[in-house]
Amino acid sequence: MTEHAARTHLAEVRAWLEPRADDMAALLMRLVAVDSENPPGRALGRCAQVLREAMEALGLGPEIIEITDPSGALEDPCIVRGSAGDGAELIYFHGHFDVVPAQHRRQFTAERRDGRIVGRGTADMKGGIVSMLYGAAAARELGLLDGGRIVLHLVPDEETGSVLGAGHLRSAGLIDRRARAMVTAEPSGGSIWNAARGAVSLRVDIRGREAHVGQAHLGVNAFQHLLHVARPVEAYAAEMAGRHTAHPLAEGDAPGTMLVVGGLFGGGSNFNVVPGSAHFTVDGRYNPEEDLDAELKRLTALIDAAAAEVGAHVSVEVTQLQPAAGTAPSHPAAAALARVVGAVEESPARFALCAGILETRWYAQLGIPAFGYGAGRLDVSHGPDEYVDEAAMRRAAAVYALYARELLA
Ligand SMILES: [Zn+2]
Repeated sequence: MTEHAARTHLAEVRAWLEPRADDMAALLMRLVAVDSENPPGRALGRCAQVLREAMEALGLGPEIIEITDPSGALEDPCIVRGSAGDGAELIYFHGHFDVVPAQHRRQFTAERRDGRIVGRGTADMKGGIVSMLYGAAAARELGLLDGGRIVLHLVPDEETGSVLGAGHLRSAGLIDRRARAMVTAEPSGGSIWNAARGAVSLRVDIRGREAHVGQAHLGVNAFQHLLHVARPVEAYAAEMAGRHTAHPLAEGDAPGTMLVVGGLFGGGSNFNVVPGSAHFTVDGRYNPEEDLDAELKRLTALIDAAAAEVGAHVSVEVTQLQPAAGTAPSHPAAAALARVVGAVEESPARFALCAGILETRWYAQLGIPAFGYGAGRLDVSHGPDEYVDEAAMRRAAAVYALYARELLA
């Protein structure tokens, strides 16, 4: 395609989006008003209904896929799936409509001021979803999807592990591995997240024997054992922080694998009783270069060896194991996204490793190039002053529409 044609499409998409700025803002404000906090996983069915109506109005053929939560914690969990275009080639637009718990209830009454929408989930990532819906609708109405289609997946449980939502898409065979690419509208602040860290989370339980302080010699102090067992884990964390990724990083992010030892810890029954139990957690975000299974083995071996030295009774529970994901910036699907972002943002695209985990992993594991790109800013996501910039939302919508055209046409 010529430079001239690309500029023409960009102008068309902008001209389609600009007059819909109020509609986009109104939809986002409606979505914010549904308090889909997770945990606990509230109002998910209600939020899905708002999305379904909006997608119906935009001609995106929504369907609701019911899912079951074996724990019963999530309220009416479901996936909203829709599409634009009907050609054989496809690209996935992916988003999640759960939000992290609010700092204050008034965050569920969105405010529109100074070119921004302020409220819980505006950046992470209901604003991103609105951009994706309008981007997909623009692409279809402007005839940019010749020979291809966009499939939209909106899931309810990203903030608590994403096994039920995105995991269901995988286990039910709803992700086609021949897809050209996947984009999730996470708050990358205009950067392209081409890679994300993997996650390993452990809970370490130490069993001792209780005894009253007056007969402390009869007890087995689980806290003392915890101190002994946690020390080599801290040394391991320091070592891993020194093992750097080769991926470009977002400004201010550290290049090492990051671990928190003791994010949760506790035990004992009273100040005057030898503690009969103690526990601590280990939470790691591993660079894509690391072998998670090997690291998990090494970590548990360290804990077992330290426990054996003092005769501690220790059990280790793996509470999370999520692989990393990465698509090289040189991959044609990455290069195409960078071209589109550069054209829309009118400055060169930046690639960065996302410091956390991304739902890109569910697609990347099938060999699909997968990226995080969204208008929201990470530094305000999850915080009390979360907002999204409206113009940035429309630019992201333009990126999604033009990226679909670039890959499918
Ligand atoms: Zn998110």
